[in-house]
Parts: sequence; C-alpha cells; structure tokens
Amino acid sequence: MLKSLKKFTGGLSVALLAVTAQAAPLKQEDLSVAEVLRDRALESSDAYSIVESLTVEVGPRRAGTKGDERAVAWAQEKMKALGFDRVYTEQIDVKRWARGHAHAEVTAPFPQPLVVTSLGYGASTPEGGLTAEIVEFADVEALLKAPARKVKGKIAFINKRMERARTGEGYGPAVQGRSQGMRAAAEKGAAAMLLRSVGTDSDRFPHTGMMSIDGVENPVPALALSAPDANLLEAMLKRGKPVEVKLNVHNEALADGPSFNVIGEVVGREKPEEVVLIGAHLDSWDEGTGALDDGAGVAIVTETARLIAELPQRPRRTLRVVLFGAEEIGLVGAKQYVDAHQNDLDKIIMVSESDFGAGKVWRFDTRIPESKFAIADQMMQLLAPLGIERGNNKSSGGPDSSVFVAQGVPAMGLYQDGSDYFDYHHTPNDTLDKVDPENLKQNVAAWVVMSFLAAEMEGDFGRVPTEH
Ligand SMILES: [Zn+2]
Repeated sequence: MLKSLKKFTGGLSVALLAVTAQAAPLKQEDLSVAEVLRDRALESSDAYSIVESLTVEVGPRRAGTKGDERAVAWAQEKMKALGFDRVYTEQIDVKRWARGHAHAEVTAPFPQPLVVTSLGYGASTPEGGLTAEIVEFADVEALLKAPARKVKGKIAFINKRMERARTGEGYGPAVQGRSQGMRAAAEKGAAAMLLRSVGTDSDRFPHTGMMSIDGVENPVPALALSAPDANLLEAMLKRGKPVEVKLNVHNEALADGPSFNVIGEVVGREKPEEVVLIGAHLDSWDEGTGALDDGAGVAIVTETARLIAELPQRPRRTLRVVLFGAEEIGLVGAKQYVDAHQNDLDKIIMVSESDFGAGKVWRFDTRIPESKFAIADQMMQLLAPLGIERGNNKSSGGPDSSVFVAQGVPAMGLYQDGSDYFDYHHTPNDTLDKVDPENLKQNVAAWVVMSFLAAEMEGDFGRVPTEH
C-alpha cells in the first residue's frame, strides 16, 4: 500500500502517510480505481468535444430564449448518447426579457461614440433617446451616499476597476456596482446608469450581467461601458467641463415562461437513492457563445460522469449531473430545485459545481465536518500529482451549489485558475477559442477522482452547519 501511495505523494513524509493510513476511510481498492479513472481522463477524456458541440450547435442560450430551448434539447440528447442511465428534465419558471439595441455617444464637449451593452433586464430610454450630463462616482457606495440633488436628471457613472486575481476575488467588490447601481441611481432620480464593465480586460467589449431589479419602482436604463470607453469618459471628465451623453436603448420585458434543469444519472448499484450531485449551468449570457461560462463546466461534469459510467460496475451511490437552468439571472434553477426537493435533500451526500471557466484546477476546497477530513486527505493523494493543493473548508461548492450548502448539504470545490476568466466573462468574446483542451483533461481528471470516491465510499459526510 505504501509503495503505491508513494508514487503519488512525492514530497509527503512517511510519518504523514502513516497518519493518513491510520484514519483511511477510503479503501485502497477504491483509490486504485480512482487512480485508473484519473489517468484515463488525462489521456483520453474528451470534454472539449462536448463544449465544442454546445457552442457550435446551440451557441447563446440566455434563460427563456429560443437558444435556451435548444440547449435543453441538446443536453438531453447528449447525455443519452453518452450512456447515462436516466435522463430527465425538471421545469422551472423564469422571468423573460428581450434585448433590443443600446447606443451611447458623447454629445459634448468632445462628440464621439461609446461602446456599451444593456445590463440584464434593463429598461429602455424614451423613444428617440435621452441626453443628460454625466456625474461620476468611484463606486456604488459613493452613489448611495450622494445627495439626490447631485444625481437627479443626470446619468450616474460608476467607475470602479476590478482587480485581477487567480481566485477571481476582485469580482465580489466590483460586482456591487452592477447589482445595486441601477437601483441606487433610480431611487435618486437619475436619468440612467452607466457602469465601467465588471471585468479585467482592456478590450472594447462591454460585460453584461444581472442586476437587482425586484421592487425598483421606476427602473432606468442601465448600461455597461467597455473598459477603454470608461477610460475615455474618465479622461473627458478630468478636463473639468460638463460631459453630456446621449443614450438610445430599447429592451422589452416579457411574460414569465418555462425553462428546465436537465438531469442525467449514473444510477448507484447499492444505494441508488443516495446521490452525489455534480453540476454546472446550462444557460449563458446572450452575446457570446458561453464557452467559458459555463460550457466548459457542462463539459467537465458530463465527461466525468461518462467516464464513471464506463466502469465495469456502477458506483455504490447515484452520480447525478444537474445542468442548472437560469443561473445567470439569479440561481433560479438551483433555488427551484432545492424548493422542489425539500423532502430528499438529505439524500444528497455532497454537492459540487464547475462554473469558473476552463483554467486548470489548482486547489481542492471542502465544506465537510472536520471529523471527515481524512477522506479529503485521501482524495488529495490522487489530486496532488495534478498540481492541486489542499485549500480551506469554506467551499460554497460553486454558485448553484451554495443554495444547497445553505440547507446543510456538504460540498466540495475544485478551484480553477481564474486569472483571465474575467477578461471574457459575459462578453461577446466568451467563445470556444478561449478553451484549452488539455486544461479540460486536467479538470476531468480531478473531478473524476472526487466524484467517484464520494459515490463509492462507505460512510457519508453527514450534514454541515447552516449559516442562519
Ligand atoms: Zn457561470
């Protein structure tokens, strides 16, 4: 046993191995199968062809659109073709919205066009457009603190830059402007809201995304500027003269309609009612083809299950792949899944999601009871050779998974390198060429270790504390 472990643990001391071996809840034979799966994934997994198929044959698939309908059909066909035991859908209800046009131009003092896009579910200008003076704010907090007289009738410009990081941690602070900016502007009587895109690139692509719209009485047009256009506006404002911008925007709010979570299962041989739930989201924003967000995740978890389904026998419990609908517009598919499954949530022994692009996995996080850490340590024996380090025990499991975690479901997270994720996120530039097939293989190798061992292990993780 020690000999075979040593192969994968390189730098780990014999003493540490001995400690691990003592607790050793996972059987050596299961670790050996996981090792075979991992190596098979590195050599021959083909997640790339799945994301290629989704982006070429479906493309943009914002929740509630025709593209979304095609994606739901595509996902069912794909899972059936790949040998899942059961494939089915569960209906969800989504708010629908049609994107029309969005034009912006500086009219004074230096007339020139700006590159913009409407934020999700944004309002229109009056017919013929509106022209107003720009008032700049460093961030949404500054706008919230400003007196209404400073904002009334003007276009509030939120000019906060996002910091680049491997963890993507710059997103949280920057995205406040997108989620809360329109509401804050509308409540102070602004004519519209312009946002420096939440992104890390300097390309002339604006980044769309969802904002908080519920209960906003008089929503105003809300647009993202590409980074170079935000720089341009900033430079004009520095000259000290009033800057006027004309906006012409048309979008349409539509009646609510159906979408679907698409679910595929590899049914367990001994405890089919117990479930390891691995997910990604099927919907995307509408301007790119959703290759990184989240076509890559769809491909990674689907290919993971396909590899496990190829084994001579099914794992002990069921592996359930859930391709969530309507994640982008507020985790709608995950929330409705959890509501509909209140009576069997306790059968989900672990949840995890891939939704951070196509970069290599570099960290393994968990949210499991401390008494179960030995299981994660054993998983690490097979993950470490993939260049993955052990992270923290605060994993949300991913955006959709966080809804499950809030109800006490244990989670695991294979954290990807997101250094360039926000260069493309929610832009027309989120396309297949950004996906490296070799990186996807490394992802599948990590996912197959984690998913197979969780589905095969004898005990479970119990529940984790909820935070309310
Ligand atoms: Zn996503």
